[in-house]
Amino acid sequence: MVRVRFAPSPTGFFHIGGARTALFNWLYARHMSGTFILRIEDTDRERHMEEATSVILSGMRWLGMDWDEGPEVGGKYGPYFQSQRDDIYGEYLEILRRNDKVYEQDGAIYFRVSREPQLIDDLIRGQVYRVEEKDFVIFRSNGTPVFHFVNVVDDVAMEISHVIRGEDHLSNSSKHVELFKAFGAPVPKFAHIPLILKTNGSGKMSKRDVGALVEDYRKSRFLPEALRNYLCLLGWSPKDDREIMSIEEVIQLFDLCDVNRNNARFDDKKLAYMNAAYVKSMPLERFLEKGKDLLPNFGGDEHYADQVLTICQEKLRSFEELNHFVSYFFDEEFEYEERAWSDLKKRDPLLRISELLEVIENMEDFSEQGLEEAVVKLAEEHAVKTGDYIHAVRFALSGRTVGPSFYKMIVVMGRERVARRLKRALSGK
Ligand code: GLU
Repeated sequence: MVRVRFAPSPTGFFHIGGARTALFNWLYARHMSGTFILRIEDTDRERHMEEATSVILSGMRWLGMDWDEGPEVGGKYGPYFQSQRDDIYGEYLEILRRNDKVYEQDGAIYFRVSREPQLIDDLIRGQVYRVEEKDFVIFRSNGTPVFHFVNVVDDVAMEISHVIRGEDHLSNSSKHVELFKAFGAPVPKFAHIPLILKTNGSGKMSKRDVGALVEDYRKSRFLPEALRNYLCLLGWSPKDDREIMSIEEVIQLFDLCDVNRNNARFDDKKLAYMNAAYVKSMPLERFLEKGKDLLPNFGGDEHYADQVLTICQEKLRSFEELNHFVSYFFDEEFEYEERAWSDLKKRDPLLRISELLEVIENMEDFSEQGLEEAVVKLAEEHAVKTGDYIHAVRFALSGRTVGPSFYKMIVVMGRERVARRLKRALSGK
């Protein structure tokens, strides 16, 4: 039976590295139909644990990683906070005492190491042997237990089968193997996941780097499924190198032996590209719901807001830019971007605007197709490019040079609004 755990220390942050470790544990548990446990390693009691823990819990939930045992859900191996497991640590210390594996010195309790090579059977790195040369402290002189001890006691007591964690813990593993053996417990399999390097490749990503916290993505309105998909690929890839994948597919394919041994580089451009792909392929209904939540000023005209959002979905790269992207649809006082106008000026924009305005006010077939035909006809008549109409009129309607499909935009704005805006542009306001 596979039992894995994500064991964060609540520092107040939930960073990309932690989220990726959690995700690989979660994926492996789901792939093997095993159990995913969340354990809070809060032995450092001075900090604001409750708040710091809730940052992790809500980040996990946002990314859709549910846990089978742990805070708020319980489980028969609890409690799942190390700060509540003192009795258990006392019992395990007794085991070591009985077996003469510990001694006291200067008030601290030391663990007596065997000084024999220890096998770390690692599913990613292969079999690694390491020797622990020195006895180490498991209880400080102030009576608090040390990380190595509580970490292993909990893995024994919670019957953890696979320890999946960041590579920075590889160097601790020989200590841990010594402890597992001293307890007479089976040694779990290990899987040490390579580090994540900064986008520019200069060293390990740390929680102080830009874009290092899950919270940042939440605030900038990334889609959690896009971030999760990206994190899956940070050190793992399916054999056919596909990138956009449903989580069900990843669960089916994910295995620890396919995790890359090399460090992974955090690629913020690829993440942005994946987010855009997810935004574009969102089911329309969900897109509209989320979009309207984010639009503070759609003025109560829900039907109009729905139409605007519908034609913008294919062009939008992130929800963060949504407000800016659609703002002029809802604002008659929108501003014209000066720079874009100076480029247009060379091609008689006012003439083009007035010509199309006249057609629009009189046309019978006010539809995408009807408009397109009218623009083609006008361009032929005046021996100019259709683009001259499109650029000038788009600018008059939105103050910008980019936006959704031109003809769709006109239809959605409606004849009246379009005519009003074109007149505003002609009058130079
Ligand atoms: N609390 C440790 C950490 O956050 C857990 C290490 C482990 O997974 O064994 O790094």
